[in-house]
Amino acid sequence: MMDTKQHKISFSTTAVHAGKKEDQFGAHVSPIYQTSTFVFKDVDEGREAFSNEEGSETHIYSRLANPTVEHLERAICSLETYGMDTADEYQGMAFGSGMAAISTGILTLAKGGHVIAQDALYGCTSQFLEGEAPELGITTSFVDTSDSFLVEMELKKHPNTKLIYLESIANPTMMVSDIPRIAKLAEDYGALLMVDNTFASPYHLKPITLGADVVAHSTTKYLGGHGTVIGGALVLKKQLIQDSAMAVFRKNLGGIAGPMDAFLLTNGVKTLALRMEKQAKNTMKIARFLEAHSAVDRVWYPGLESHPQHHLANAMMSNGFGGVLAFELKGGYEAGKHLMNSVKLCSLAVSLGTVDTLIQHPASMTHAVMSEELRNQAGITEGLVRLAVGIEDAEDIIYDLEQGIL
Ligand SMILES: *Cc1c(COP(=O)(O)O)cnc(C)c1O
Repeated sequence: MMDTKQHKISFSTTAVHAGKKEDQFGAHVSPIYQTSTFVFKDVDEGREAFSNEEGSETHIYSRLANPTVEHLERAICSLETYGMDTADEYQGMAFGSGMAAISTGILTLAKGGHVIAQDALYGCTSQFLEGEAPELGITTSFVDTSDSFLVEMELKKHPNTKLIYLESIANPTMMVSDIPRIAKLAEDYGALLMVDNTFASPYHLKPITLGADVVAHSTTKYLGGHGTVIGGALVLKKQLIQDSAMAVFRKNLGGIAGPMDAFLLTNGVKTLALRMEKQAKNTMKIARFLEAHSAVDRVWYPGLESHPQHHLANAMMSNGFGGVLAFELKGGYEAGKHLMNSVKLCSLAVSLGTVDTLIQHPASMTHAVMSEELRNQAGITEGLVRLAVGIEDAEDIIYDLEQGIL
Protein backbone atom coordinates (compact mmCIF):
# COMPACT_ATOMS: atom_id res chain seq x y z
CA MET A 1 0.00 0.00 0.00
CA MET A 2 1.93 3.07 1.16
CA ASP A 3 4.44 1.81 3.70
CA THR A 4 7.48 4.07 3.91
CA LYS A 5 10.52 4.06 6.15
CA GLN A 6 8.89 6.75 8.29
CA HIS A 7 5.41 5.30 8.48
CA LYS A 8 4.22 1.73 8.71
CA ILE A 9 0.58 1.02 7.84
CA SER A 10 -1.22 -0.71 10.73
CA PHE A 11 -2.93 -4.09 10.62
CA SER A 12 -6.42 -2.54 10.97
CA THR A 13 -5.79 -0.17 8.07
CA THR A 14 -4.42 -3.05 6.00
CA ALA A 15 -7.62 -5.02 6.69
CA VAL A 16 -9.72 -2.13 5.34
CA HIS A 17 -7.73 -1.62 2.15
CA ALA A 18 -5.95 -4.89 1.33
CA GLY A 19 -6.49 -6.63 -1.99
CA LYS A 20 -8.20 -3.78 -3.81
CA LYS A 21 -7.21 -2.98 -7.38
CA GLU A 22 -8.21 0.01 -9.48
CA ASP A 23 -11.45 -0.53 -11.37
CA GLN A 24 -11.98 0.65 -14.96
CA PHE A 25 -15.08 2.68 -13.95
CA GLY A 26 -13.58 3.94 -10.70
CA ALA A 27 -15.96 1.88 -8.54
CA HIS A 28 -15.20 2.61 -4.88
CA VAL A 29 -16.08 -0.93 -3.77
CA SER A 30 -14.64 -3.75 -5.88
CA PRO A 31 -17.28 -4.98 -8.31
CA ILE A 32 -18.61 -8.53 -8.21
CA TYR A 33 -17.42 -10.33 -11.33
CA GLN A 34 -20.41 -12.65 -11.43
CA THR A 35 -19.35 -14.44 -14.58
CA SER A 36 -18.40 -18.01 -15.34
CA THR A 37 -16.27 -17.28 -18.41
CA PHE A 38 -14.14 -14.47 -19.92
CA VAL A 39 -13.99 -13.31 -23.53
CA PHE A 40 -10.63 -13.26 -25.36
CA LYS A 41 -9.81 -10.36 -27.68
CA ASP A 42 -8.44 -12.75 -30.27
CA VAL A 43 -6.96 -16.19 -30.73
CA ASP A 44 -3.48 -15.05 -29.73
CA GLU A 45 -4.68 -13.82 -26.36
CA GLY A 46 -6.50 -17.09 -25.82
CA ARG A 47 -3.43 -19.11 -26.75
CA GLU A 48 -1.23 -17.07 -24.41
CA ALA A 49 -3.67 -17.51 -21.53
CA PHE A 50 -3.86 -21.29 -21.96
CA SER A 51 -0.13 -21.78 -22.39
CA ASN A 52 0.51 -19.96 -19.12
CA GLU A 53 -2.63 -20.68 -17.05
CA GLU A 54 -1.21 -19.72 -13.66
CA GLY A 55 1.06 -16.88 -14.67
CA SER A 56 -1.32 -15.24 -17.13
CA GLU A 57 -3.06 -11.95 -16.32
CA THR A 58 -5.81 -12.93 -18.73
CA HIS A 59 -8.79 -14.61 -17.14
CA ILE A 60 -10.16 -17.76 -18.74
CA TYR A 61 -12.88 -19.36 -16.61
CA SER A 62 -13.97 -18.80 -12.99
CA ARG A 63 -13.09 -22.32 -11.80
CA LEU A 64 -9.44 -21.32 -12.46
CA ALA A 65 -9.48 -17.71 -11.28
CA ASN A 66 -11.91 -14.81 -10.92
CA PRO A 67 -11.10 -11.14 -10.14
CA THR A 68 -13.45 -10.95 -7.12
CA VAL A 69 -11.99 -14.15 -5.70
CA GLU A 70 -8.46 -12.83 -6.33
CA HIS A 71 -9.28 -9.66 -4.37
CA LEU A 72 -10.19 -11.86 -1.40
CA GLU A 73 -7.03 -13.97 -1.84
CA ARG A 74 -4.79 -10.90 -1.84
CA ALA A 75 -6.57 -9.49 1.24
CA ILE A 76 -6.24 -12.66 3.36
CA CYS A 77 -2.63 -13.12 2.28
CA SER A 78 -1.78 -9.53 3.30
CA LEU A 79 -3.23 -10.08 6.76
CA GLU A 80 -1.56 -13.43 7.42
CA THR A 81 1.85 -12.15 6.25
CA TYR A 82 1.44 -8.67 7.76
CA GLY A 83 4.77 -7.09 8.66
CA MET A 84 6.92 -9.73 6.94
CA ASP A 85 9.74 -8.69 4.59
CA THR A 86 9.07 -11.80 2.51
CA ALA A 87 5.30 -11.22 2.22
CA ASP A 88 5.57 -11.03 -1.59
CA GLU A 89 6.62 -14.67 -1.70
CA TYR A 90 3.22 -15.74 -0.37
CA GLN A 91 -0.17 -16.23 -1.98
CA GLY A 92 -3.73 -16.78 -0.81
CA MET A 93 -6.07 -19.36 -2.30
CA ALA A 94 -9.82 -19.17 -1.74
CA PHE A 95 -12.06 -22.24 -1.55
CA GLY A 96 -15.77 -22.96 -1.37
CA SER A 97 -15.52 -24.04 2.28
CA GLY A 98 -13.04 -24.38 5.12
CA MET A 99 -13.06 -28.15 4.57
CA ALA A 100 -12.26 -27.73 0.85
CA ALA A 101 -9.22 -25.64 1.84
CA ILE A 102 -8.10 -28.03 4.59
CA SER A 103 -8.55 -31.23 2.57
CA THR A 104 -6.81 -29.71 -0.45
CA GLY A 105 -3.91 -28.54 1.71
CA ILE A 106 -3.47 -31.93 3.38
CA LEU A 107 -3.88 -34.01 0.20
CA THR A 108 -1.38 -31.99 -1.81
CA LEU A 109 1.23 -31.36 0.90
CA ALA A 110 1.23 -34.78 2.60
CA LYS A 111 0.87 -36.87 -0.59
CA GLY A 112 1.98 -40.45 0.05
CA GLY A 113 3.29 -39.63 3.53
CA HIS A 114 2.43 -39.27 7.17
CA VAL A 115 0.64 -36.49 9.10
CA ILE A 116 1.14 -35.74 12.77
CA ALA A 117 -2.07 -34.06 13.87
CA GLN A 118 -3.31 -32.46 17.06
CA ASP A 119 -5.63 -34.83 18.94
CA ALA A 120 -8.40 -32.26 19.51
CA LEU A 121 -9.27 -31.04 16.00
CA TYR A 122 -12.35 -29.62 14.35
CA GLY A 123 -14.69 -32.63 13.92
CA CYS A 124 -14.69 -32.84 10.11
CA THR A 125 -10.90 -32.44 9.95
CA SER A 126 -10.34 -35.45 12.22
CA GLN A 127 -13.01 -37.39 10.36
CA PHE A 128 -11.23 -36.59 7.08
CA LEU A 129 -7.81 -37.61 8.47
CA GLU A 130 -9.21 -40.87 9.85
CA GLY A 131 -11.60 -41.64 7.01
CA GLU A 132 -10.75 -40.41 3.50
CA ALA A 133 -7.05 -39.54 3.88
CA PRO A 134 -5.86 -43.16 4.57
CA GLU A 135 -7.79 -44.36 1.50
CA LEU A 136 -5.89 -41.76 -0.51
CA GLY A 137 -2.50 -42.91 0.80
CA ILE A 138 -1.98 -40.57 3.77
CA THR A 139 -1.61 -41.93 7.30
CA THR A 140 -2.08 -39.88 10.48
CA SER A 141 -1.12 -40.18 14.12
CA PHE A 142 -2.82 -37.94 16.67
CA VAL A 143 -0.89 -36.39 19.57
CA ASP A 144 -1.38 -33.68 22.16
CA THR A 145 0.52 -30.94 20.33
CA SER A 146 0.44 -28.65 23.38
CA ASP A 147 3.36 -30.87 24.49
CA SER A 148 6.12 -30.26 21.89
CA PHE A 149 8.10 -33.21 23.30
CA LEU A 150 5.33 -35.59 22.17
CA VAL A 151 5.48 -34.05 18.69
CA GLU A 152 9.23 -34.74 18.52
CA MET A 153 8.74 -38.36 19.71
CA GLU A 154 6.17 -38.82 16.96
CA LEU A 155 8.51 -37.32 14.34
CA LYS A 156 11.18 -39.83 15.37
CA LYS A 157 8.66 -42.68 15.08
CA HIS A 158 7.48 -41.61 11.60
CA PRO A 159 10.40 -40.61 9.36
CA ASN A 160 7.97 -40.26 6.44
CA THR A 161 6.16 -37.36 8.16
CA LYS A 162 5.40 -34.69 5.59
CA LEU A 163 3.04 -32.50 7.57
CA ILE A 164 2.35 -31.45 11.14
CA TYR A 165 -1.21 -30.18 11.51
CA LEU A 166 -2.70 -28.19 14.38
CA GLU A 167 -5.19 -25.45 15.25
CA SER A 168 -4.08 -22.10 16.66
CA ILE A 169 -6.78 -22.39 19.35
CA ALA A 170 -8.42 -25.81 19.61
CA ASN A 171 -11.86 -26.86 20.84
CA PRO A 172 -13.25 -27.48 23.43
CA THR A 173 -10.55 -26.57 25.94
CA MET A 174 -9.17 -23.69 23.80
CA MET A 175 -5.79 -25.41 23.83
CA VAL A 176 -2.79 -23.56 22.39
CA SER A 177 0.36 -25.16 20.93
CA ASP A 178 3.87 -23.70 20.78
CA ILE A 179 3.96 -22.73 17.08
CA PRO A 180 7.57 -21.39 16.95
CA ARG A 181 8.89 -24.53 18.64
CA ILE A 182 6.88 -26.94 16.51
CA ALA A 183 7.82 -24.99 13.35
CA LYS A 184 11.48 -25.51 14.27
CA LEU A 185 10.87 -29.24 14.82
CA ALA A 186 9.10 -29.48 11.46
CA GLU A 187 12.06 -27.83 9.76
CA ASP A 188 14.59 -30.07 11.53
CA TYR A 189 12.72 -33.21 10.46
CA GLY A 190 11.94 -32.09 6.90
CA ALA A 191 8.20 -31.66 7.40
CA LEU A 192 5.84 -28.74 6.85
CA LEU A 193 3.71 -27.11 9.54
CA MET A 194 0.09 -26.28 8.66
CA VAL A 195 -2.02 -24.30 11.14
CA ASP A 196 -5.80 -23.87 11.05
CA ASN A 197 -6.02 -20.25 12.24
CA THR A 198 -9.82 -19.99 12.20
CA PHE A 199 -10.31 -19.43 15.96
CA ALA A 200 -7.57 -16.83 16.50
CA SER A 201 -7.79 -15.02 13.13
CA PRO A 202 -4.78 -13.01 11.91
CA TYR A 203 -5.89 -10.15 14.17
CA HIS A 204 -4.61 -12.06 17.22
CA LEU A 205 -2.13 -14.52 15.76
CA LYS A 206 -0.19 -14.91 12.50
CA PRO A 207 1.22 -18.46 12.37
CA ILE A 208 3.36 -17.82 9.26
CA THR A 209 5.19 -14.99 11.03
CA LEU A 210 5.91 -17.52 13.82
CA GLY A 211 7.39 -20.07 11.43
CA ALA A 212 4.42 -22.06 10.08
CA ASP A 213 4.45 -22.93 6.37
CA VAL A 214 0.74 -22.93 5.65
CA VAL A 215 -2.29 -21.26 7.22
CA ALA A 216 -5.81 -22.60 6.70
CA HIS A 217 -9.06 -20.80 7.40
CA SER A 218 -12.71 -21.44 7.56
CA THR A 219 -13.54 -17.94 6.29
CA THR A 220 -17.12 -18.82 7.27
CA LYS A 221 -16.17 -17.65 10.76
CA TYR A 222 -14.27 -14.46 11.71
CA LEU A 223 -13.03 -13.38 8.27
CA GLY A 224 -16.61 -13.35 6.94
CA GLY A 225 -17.92 -12.22 10.30
CA HIS A 226 -21.62 -12.10 9.59
CA GLY A 227 -22.63 -15.73 9.18
CA THR A 228 -23.66 -15.25 5.53
CA VAL A 229 -21.08 -17.41 3.72
CA ILE A 230 -19.45 -20.83 3.79
CA GLY A 231 -15.86 -20.38 2.63
CA GLY A 232 -12.23 -21.35 3.14
CA ALA A 233 -8.71 -20.17 2.36
CA LEU A 234 -5.07 -21.20 2.43
CA VAL A 235 -2.01 -18.94 2.59
CA LEU A 236 1.39 -20.36 1.66
CA LYS A 237 4.51 -19.67 -0.40
CA LYS A 238 3.98 -19.39 -4.16
CA GLN A 239 6.84 -21.85 -4.56
CA LEU A 240 5.00 -24.40 -2.41
CA ILE A 241 1.85 -23.96 -4.52
CA GLN A 242 3.98 -24.72 -7.59
CA ASP A 243 5.87 -27.65 -6.07
CA SER A 244 2.68 -29.30 -4.80
CA ALA A 245 0.65 -28.47 -7.94
CA MET A 246 -2.01 -27.12 -5.60
CA ALA A 247 -3.60 -24.74 -8.11
CA VAL A 248 -3.98 -27.58 -10.60
CA PHE A 249 -5.50 -29.72 -7.84
CA ARG A 250 -8.03 -26.99 -7.01
CA LYS A 251 -8.82 -26.51 -10.69
CA ASN A 252 -9.44 -30.20 -11.32
CA LEU A 253 -11.23 -31.00 -8.06
CA GLY A 254 -13.18 -27.78 -8.47
CA GLY A 255 -13.10 -26.40 -4.92
CA ILE A 256 -12.70 -22.66 -5.65
CA ALA A 257 -14.94 -20.02 -4.03
CA GLY A 258 -17.70 -18.31 -6.04
CA PRO A 259 -17.61 -14.54 -6.82
CA MET A 260 -20.64 -13.59 -4.69
CA ASP A 261 -19.27 -15.39 -1.64
CA ALA A 262 -15.84 -13.85 -2.25
CA PHE A 263 -17.45 -10.40 -2.40
CA LEU A 264 -19.27 -10.90 0.91
CA LEU A 265 -16.02 -12.12 2.45
CA THR A 266 -14.00 -9.11 1.23
CA ASN A 267 -16.54 -6.88 2.95
CA GLY A 268 -16.22 -8.95 6.12
CA VAL A 269 -12.41 -8.71 6.10
CA LYS A 270 -12.60 -4.88 6.13
CA THR A 271 -14.10 -4.89 9.64
CA LEU A 272 -12.09 -7.81 11.03
CA ALA A 273 -9.98 -5.75 13.43
CA LEU A 274 -12.94 -3.75 14.74
CA ARG A 275 -15.01 -6.87 15.36
CA MET A 276 -12.20 -8.94 16.89
CA GLU A 277 -11.25 -6.15 19.28
CA LYS A 278 -14.79 -5.93 20.64
CA GLN A 279 -15.34 -9.70 20.63
CA ALA A 280 -12.10 -10.37 22.52
CA LYS A 281 -12.89 -7.68 25.10
CA ASN A 282 -16.42 -9.03 25.56
CA THR A 283 -15.17 -12.60 25.90
CA MET A 284 -12.64 -11.62 28.55
CA LYS A 285 -15.39 -9.89 30.59
CA ILE A 286 -17.75 -12.86 30.22
CA ALA A 287 -14.95 -15.30 31.11
CA ARG A 288 -14.30 -13.39 34.34
CA PHE A 289 -18.02 -13.26 35.15
CA LEU A 290 -18.37 -17.02 34.61
CA GLU A 291 -15.22 -17.84 36.57
CA ALA A 292 -16.66 -16.00 39.57
CA HIS A 293 -20.09 -17.68 39.28
CA SER A 294 -20.91 -20.29 41.94
CA ALA A 295 -22.75 -22.58 39.48
CA VAL A 296 -19.76 -22.75 37.12
CA ASP A 297 -17.11 -25.38 37.71
CA ARG A 298 -14.48 -24.19 35.26
CA VAL A 299 -13.96 -21.80 32.34
CA TRP A 300 -11.74 -22.53 29.32
CA TYR A 301 -10.35 -19.35 27.78
CA PRO A 302 -6.66 -18.69 26.95
CA GLY A 303 -6.99 -15.15 28.30
CA LEU A 304 -7.60 -16.40 31.85
CA GLU A 305 -4.63 -16.94 34.16
CA SER A 306 -6.23 -20.29 35.07
CA HIS A 307 -5.86 -21.59 31.50
CA PRO A 308 -3.06 -24.19 31.30
CA GLN A 309 -1.40 -22.43 28.34
CA HIS A 310 -2.09 -18.84 29.34
CA HIS A 311 1.59 -17.86 29.28
CA LEU A 312 2.16 -19.41 25.88
CA ALA A 313 -0.99 -17.75 24.49
CA ASN A 314 0.21 -14.44 25.92
CA ALA A 315 3.58 -14.84 24.21
CA MET A 316 2.15 -15.75 20.79
CA MET A 317 -1.03 -13.67 20.55
CA SER A 318 -1.62 -9.94 20.42
CA ASN A 319 -4.58 -7.71 21.30
CA GLY A 320 -6.47 -10.44 23.15
CA PHE A 321 -7.42 -14.09 22.91
CA GLY A 322 -10.34 -14.44 20.51
CA GLY A 323 -14.08 -14.66 20.94
CA VAL A 324 -14.78 -18.27 21.93
CA LEU A 325 -14.86 -19.75 25.42
CA ALA A 326 -16.21 -22.93 26.98
CA PHE A 327 -17.43 -23.46 30.51
CA GLU A 328 -18.61 -26.32 32.67
CA LEU A 329 -21.80 -26.05 34.65
CA LYS A 330 -21.81 -27.87 37.99
CA GLY A 331 -25.39 -28.99 37.32
CA GLY A 332 -24.30 -31.18 34.37
CA TYR A 333 -26.55 -32.14 31.46
CA GLU A 334 -29.79 -30.73 32.94
CA ALA A 335 -28.17 -27.36 33.77
CA GLY A 336 -26.75 -27.18 30.25
CA LYS A 337 -30.10 -27.97 28.67
CA HIS A 338 -31.85 -25.43 30.93
CA LEU A 339 -29.44 -22.67 29.93
CA MET A 340 -29.88 -23.46 26.21
CA ASN A 341 -33.66 -23.25 26.57
CA SER A 342 -33.57 -20.03 28.64
CA VAL A 343 -31.32 -17.70 26.64
CA LYS A 344 -33.08 -14.97 24.66
CA LEU A 345 -30.26 -12.91 23.18
CA CYS A 346 -27.82 -15.73 22.41
CA SER A 347 -28.82 -17.95 19.49
CA LEU A 348 -28.77 -21.70 19.94
CA ALA A 349 -26.53 -22.64 17.01
CA VAL A 350 -23.20 -24.19 16.03
CA SER A 351 -20.48 -22.11 14.31
CA LEU A 352 -18.68 -18.99 15.55
CA GLY A 353 -17.33 -15.66 14.42
CA THR A 354 -20.67 -13.95 13.76
CA VAL A 355 -21.49 -10.45 15.03
CA ASP A 356 -24.16 -11.96 17.29
CA THR A 357 -23.52 -14.40 20.13
CA LEU A 358 -24.02 -18.13 19.54
CA ILE A 359 -24.34 -20.72 22.29
CA GLN A 360 -24.25 -24.50 22.12
CA HIS A 361 -24.27 -27.52 24.41
CA PRO A 362 -22.11 -30.25 22.81
CA ALA A 363 -23.51 -33.10 24.96
CA SER A 364 -27.08 -32.56 23.75
CA MET A 365 -26.26 -31.13 20.31
CA THR A 366 -23.09 -31.59 18.17
CA HIS A 367 -21.75 -34.56 20.14
CA ALA A 368 -25.05 -36.20 21.20
CA VAL A 369 -24.35 -39.21 18.98
CA MET A 370 -21.10 -39.99 20.84
CA SER A 371 -21.20 -42.24 23.92
CA GLU A 372 -20.80 -40.47 27.26
CA GLU A 373 -17.51 -42.32 27.76
CA LEU A 374 -16.03 -41.10 24.46
CA ARG A 375 -17.29 -37.58 25.13
CA ASN A 376 -15.56 -37.54 28.52
CA GLN A 377 -12.34 -38.78 26.93
CA ALA A 378 -12.47 -35.81 24.54
CA GLY A 379 -13.08 -33.39 27.42
CA ILE A 380 -16.72 -32.86 26.45
CA THR A 381 -18.43 -33.20 29.82
CA GLU A 382 -22.20 -33.21 30.33
CA GLY A 383 -22.28 -29.64 31.58
CA LEU A 384 -19.89 -28.16 29.01
CA VAL A 385 -21.26 -25.12 27.18
CA ARG A 386 -19.55 -23.30 24.30
CA LEU A 387 -20.09 -19.63 23.75
CA ALA A 388 -19.05 -17.80 20.54
CA VAL A 389 -19.27 -14.20 21.64
CA GLY A 390 -20.55 -11.45 19.34
CA ILE A 391 -20.18 -7.66 19.26
CA GLU A 392 -23.22 -6.91 21.46
CA ASP A 393 -22.39 -5.19 24.75
CA ALA A 394 -20.90 -7.64 27.24
CA GLU A 395 -23.37 -6.59 29.95
CA ASP A 396 -26.32 -7.69 27.82
CA ILE A 397 -24.79 -11.10 27.10
CA ILE A 398 -23.95 -11.53 30.78
CA TYR A 399 -27.55 -10.65 31.74
CA ASP A 400 -28.83 -13.22 29.26
CA LEU A 401 -26.54 -15.94 30.66
CA GLU A 402 -27.22 -15.04 34.29
CA GLN A 403 -30.99 -15.52 33.99
CA GLY A 404 -30.44 -18.97 32.45
CA ILE A 405 -27.80 -20.39 34.80
CA LEU A 406 -29.45 -22.42 37.57
C1 LIG B 1 -15.79 -24.33 10.86
C2 LIG B 1 -14.41 -24.82 10.95
C3 LIG B 1 -13.85 -25.59 9.91
C4 LIG B 1 -14.62 -26.01 8.69
O1 LIG B 1 -14.96 -24.93 7.90
P1 LIG B 1 -16.24 -24.90 6.92
O2 LIG B 1 -16.20 -23.52 6.37
O3 LIG B 1 -17.45 -25.20 7.74
O4 LIG B 1 -16.00 -25.96 5.89
C5 LIG B 1 -12.52 -25.98 10.05
N1 LIG B 1 -11.79 -25.66 11.15
C6 LIG B 1 -12.32 -24.94 12.15
C7 LIG B 1 -11.46 -24.64 13.32
C8 LIG B 1 -13.63 -24.51 12.10
O5 LIG B 1 -14.14 -23.80 13.12
